[in-house]
Amino acid sequence: MTFARMWSDLLPVGRAGDGGYRRFAWSAEDQVLREWFAGEASVRGLDLVTDRAGNQWAWWGAPDATPGVVTGSHLDSVPGGGAFDGPLGVISAFAALDLLRERGIQPARPLGIANFVDEEGARFGVACAGSRLITGALDADRARGLRDADGGTLADALSRAGRDPSALGRDDEALRRIASFVELHVEQGRGLVHTGDAVGVGRMIWPHGRWRVELRGEANHAGTTPLADRRDPMLDLAGLLRRVRVAAVQAGALATVGKLQVDPNGVNAIPSRVTAWLDVRAESESAVHGVLAALADYAPDQDSWTPVTMFDADLADTVADALGGSPRLSTGAGHDAGILAAAGIPTAMIFVRNPSGISHAPAEDAEEADCLAGVDALAAALERLLA
Ligand SMILES: [Zn+2]
Repeated sequence: MTFARMWSDLLPVGRAGDGGYRRFAWSAEDQVLREWFAGEASVRGLDLVTDRAGNQWAWWGAPDATPGVVTGSHLDSVPGGGAFDGPLGVISAFAALDLLRERGIQPARPLGIANFVDEEGARFGVACAGSRLITGALDADRARGLRDADGGTLADALSRAGRDPSALGRDDEALRRIASFVELHVEQGRGLVHTGDAVGVGRMIWPHGRWRVELRGEANHAGTTPLADRRDPMLDLAGLLRRVRVAAVQAGALATVGKLQVDPNGVNAIPSRVTAWLDVRAESESAVHGVLAALADYAPDQDSWTPVTMFDADLADTVADALGGSPRLSTGAGHDAGILAAAGIPTAMIFVRNPSGISHAPAEDAEEADCLAGVDALAAALERLLA
């Protein structure tokens, strides 16, 4: 079975001792993954195309004459990520193509398999950078100047990987080739555990925003400043965290403070400033706004906003039909599929059950039988869409 062989090919790439993965965009690990993708395309006789952003496309058929049905996902990871987020969609895409060929299917239109670069944004801070670049949602100049934790720019990283940073930009040629896109992905929650299904079909991606809150105080000595004389922003942070949780419960939203910067960050210094990054997502935009309204006195600064993404209803119906009727899932996680949908491309997602519900961590999981059910589902959906 090609699925198992491909899975074991990728298993060791970028894996740390604790089982977590580190596969950052344009790193040595990424280069191995990109070469693997090119090799899988080559052994199947597919045409490998790399677009202006560095996304890889493996085509069965000629998409310049007739736009094709595209499937695939990404191969990069967050720091300490799981094995499934991304690679499951790419491996399943190749395995589904193999199934179609074994069954002697002659597609009426081209089939493309995509590997989107830098989906997680783990290195340069912008998620879905590859799909945002080709759709024009991420400005090329801004992208070239993005910096990683070592201070290196994306432009430098591209040059070192042998790519021309000046090529970045909206890629209409790549977009014209996509008639529709179906992304298979491990579920990042326990929706399918609750319904008892191996696979489900995406309905929507929740609206999502990121904000920055700055809490200011006065730096002073931890051993000599009486409590009454302190202006300690760490106490304000405690108040903020409590307020975030209460507001999120009231609004029915998810709200997270997962990143802090403390200045000067000394164990014996009262901080002069604490910066907190807030991530808010909910099924409705009004619920997200409800959380922000409750935090108005902290004057949160908006870093990013992604409106609700509805997947194409007809395409989702076709996919669900091909799967013999499947539960519909909403997700709070962003995907390249969401970026393409926002750019007007009919897009659908297939999710595979994750018994732990955990994602972006080594405990992310899917049983082999469910992965194979995912491949079958994807092949069935593609067969319909390619007819
Ligand atoms: Zn992903």
